[in-house]
Amino acid sequence: MGKILKLVCTLCGAEYQEEENVLTCKHCGQQGILDVVYDYEKAKAELNRDTLLENRELSHWRYIALMPVEADNRRPPLRVGWSPLYRCESLSSTIGLSSLYIKDDGQNPTNSLKDRASSVGVARALRRGAKAITCASTGNAATSLAGNAASVGLRTFIFVPERVPEAKLAQLLVFGADVFVVKGSYEDAFELSMKSASSFGWYNRNSGINPYLVEGKKTVAFEICEQLAWQLPDWVAISVGDGCSIAGVWKGLKEFYNLGLISHLPHLLGVQAEGSAPIYTVWETGMEELEPVVPQTLADSIAVGTPRNWRKALRAVCESDGKFVKVTDDEILSAMRLLGSKCGVFAEPAAAASIAGVFTARRQGILSSHSSVIAIITGNGLKDTHSAIKACKGKAHFIRPSFNEIENIIQKDSKNFLTEDT
Ligand SMILES: *Cc1c(COP(=O)(O)O)cnc(C)c1O
Repeated sequence: MGKILKLVCTLCGAEYQEEENVLTCKHCGQQGILDVVYDYEKAKAELNRDTLLENRELSHWRYIALMPVEADNRRPPLRVGWSPLYRCESLSSTIGLSSLYIKDDGQNPTNSLKDRASSVGVARALRRGAKAITCASTGNAATSLAGNAASVGLRTFIFVPERVPEAKLAQLLVFGADVFVVKGSYEDAFELSMKSASSFGWYNRNSGINPYLVEGKKTVAFEICEQLAWQLPDWVAISVGDGCSIAGVWKGLKEFYNLGLISHLPHLLGVQAEGSAPIYTVWETGMEELEPVVPQTLADSIAVGTPRNWRKALRAVCESDGKFVKVTDDEILSAMRLLGSKCGVFAEPAAAASIAGVFTARRQGILSSHSSVIAIITGNGLKDTHSAIKACKGKAHFIRPSFNEIENIIQKDSKNFLTEDT
């Protein structure tokens, strides 16, 4: 038997074997997303502090003992994961925290955390002998799928809403994907990709329904544990769209906790954009069912009006005794600017939302001056320079090629410009 013991429906508890090739639960339909359960005793022997010390694989595949991919399985050669983790003193004191860490997942091969999921999706598709793979995406899941698939010569059919930022579209085209830009929302794109997958027999990488993708995403939590020498901060902040990423983070943390690798579990801070906060609303009001919204935010990667994984996201935050917050687009832009200017880290709006959420949580008293926090930067700022420029409007000096103009500007603002060295 392989390392996967079973798959369990997160709604009704129905169990399946890996060989059954079930995506979502057959008992409760679309909503029953499955959870992968491993043989943890077996994993413990292969994955512990000693083996990790000797492990020279500096990518997320160093955790393959707890990933749904066999060691001899063909997989994308791209270096996914093991992204840098920084301690950011300056931003930490601006917010008023005891410490703030930044996990920069914008440093992945296609510049977002989604590479962690897509690499696993592609490896699984190869194992199934798939000839093509598809997904719908607000942008990053698609670009990561296209890049990872390209690296092994697998064809991709991508469905994106027309509001996709140009840089993400450029990535898709460069990676050679067949791209359908849908005149409609992400939800429209999702329905089309689901229908096409079943009609044409393409492997389905939609992480809202494919249980194996979250298994890639959880590795970001594994890395955080290892990079912080097993001493986790009080809180982990991450932005939430469909809810798969935060659910993945929680699964990873719990698995390492259950393996005895960490001694306490942090609280999760789930951050949604105010104009697209249906999961926040369910959490806030205690409603039984989620009410879809029409998303309105410049943070395109979390502009999800009908989140596929809201139950898992909600459960993760509640189990962790965490909180959800929502942030405005202005707060996101301001967080983007501060993260860049104080830490040198360039985040796309949806990624900077985590920092905006930390500000909000501090203001609301969820975090105190004693709190330590790690914020996951889920995607790189170059993916959406339009928003970046908007965040920093008026910051450049547009001048004629004349030294006089420079002198005037410097003199007017000498306090800011003339430093000790000059
Ligand atoms: C996908 C994505 C998210 C949110 O992840 P979900 O699984 O949709 O909740 C956040 N930030 C970025 C940059 C993303 O690409």
